[in-house]
Amino acid sequence: MKKILVTRKLLNSNEEKLKKLYDVKLNSNDELYSQKKLIEISQGCDGILSALTDKLDKETINLLPDSVKILSNFAVGFGNIDLEAAKKRNITVTNTPEVLTDATAEIGILLILGACRRASEGIEGARAGDWKWSANYLIGKQLTGSRLGILGMGRIGQKIARIAKSLGMIIHYHNRSKLNSEKEQGAIYHEKLESLLSVSDVLSVCCPASKETINLINKDSLELLPKGAVVTNVARGDIVDDEALIDALNRRKVYAVGLDVYKNEPNLNPGYLKHKSAFILPHLGSATKETRTAMANLAIDNITEFFQTGACKNKVN
Ligand code: NAP
Repeated sequence: MKKILVTRKLLNSNEEKLKKLYDVKLNSNDELYSQKKLIEISQGCDGILSALTDKLDKETINLLPDSVKILSNFAVGFGNIDLEAAKKRNITVTNTPEVLTDATAEIGILLILGACRRASEGIEGARAGDWKWSANYLIGKQLTGSRLGILGMGRIGQKIARIAKSLGMIIHYHNRSKLNSEKEQGAIYHEKLESLLSVSDVLSVCCPASKETINLINKDSLELLPKGAVVTNVARGDIVDDEALIDALNRRKVYAVGLDVYKNEPNLNPGYLKHKSAFILPHLGSATKETRTAMANLAIDNITEFFQTGACKNKVN
C-alpha cells in the first residue's frame, strides 16, 4: 500500500476515503508544518497531499526524500510549489481545477457587492445599533450599468462574468489570449492590461499568481483606473501591491476594496484593517462543504490516477 502524507486536516469523509486507499499520515491537529518538519515527516512517503499553506519552494523540494513521486495540491492554484524544482526531481505536481469554480465565483461576487454597497460599514453599524434609516445613509455604488473589468477570464472569471452580467454589469476582460465567442459571452476583450484598467469601474482580479503577475496591480497600474474605482481580488494576494492599494484608498483614487486573499496570509497588511471601505474576508473562496469535499476527492483521485497509470490529467508541471 502506498504511503501518503496529508499536510492539513481534511473533512472527515475525505480522510475516511484516504484511510481505505492508502497508508496515510494524517494531521489531526491541523498543525501548520514548517518546511523542516514537512521534510522530516515525509520520509518513507510515496506522495504528499499538500495545501496552499505549504511553501514547497526549491530548497524544500530538493530535500524531500527520493520516495516522493507526487505532490497533489489541494487547490487550483499552485503558486506555493516550485514547479521547475519538482520537475527536475521527477516529481509530478497536480491541482484541483473545475470543482471549486462556482464556490469561488460566489465569493468573487460577494466581494464586488460587499465593496460597492459598503457592507463592512453596514454590518458594523447594525451590530452597534447606532444607525437610523435616512435617505443618505451609507450610499453606495450600484452595479447596474457599471463596467466590470476581469483580469484573468478563466474558469472563475467566466463564472463571475455570467453572474455580473445578470446584475446588469458590462463585462470587459484581459487575458494573454482572446477567448472564443462562446466563452466570451459578449464580454469585450482588451489585449493590454492598461486598456482594461482604463474602463474598469470595478476590477475583479481572477488570474493565477505567477512570475508574470506578481504585483501586477501596483502604483502605476492603479493610476490607470477611473477615479473612484472599486478593486476586488479573489485570486491570490501576491498579485496586488498592498502599499500601493492602501495608498490609493487613502487618496480616494480607489473608492473601496473587496479582498479574499492577501500577501503573507493570515497576517494581512494592517493598513486594510483601518479602512471602513475595505470589505475583507479570510480566504473563503472554496469554503463550502460541497466544494471542499469535491476538491479533496479530486486530490485523492489524482494520486490514484498517477500511481495506476504513471500520468494524471490534472498534472501542471
Ligand atoms: P484558469 O481557468 O486557469 O484561469 C486563469 C485565467 O488567467 C486565464 O484566463 C488566463 O488566460 C489568465 N492569465 C494567466 N496568466 C495571465 C497573465 N500573466 N496576464 C493576464 N491573464 C493571465 O484558473 P481558475 O480556475 O479560474 O483560477 C484562477 C485563480 O484563482 C487560481 O490560480 C487561484 O490562484 C485563484 N483561486 C482562489 C481561490 C480562493 O479561495 N480565493 C479559490 C480558487 C482559485 P491566458 O492564459 O490567456 O492569459
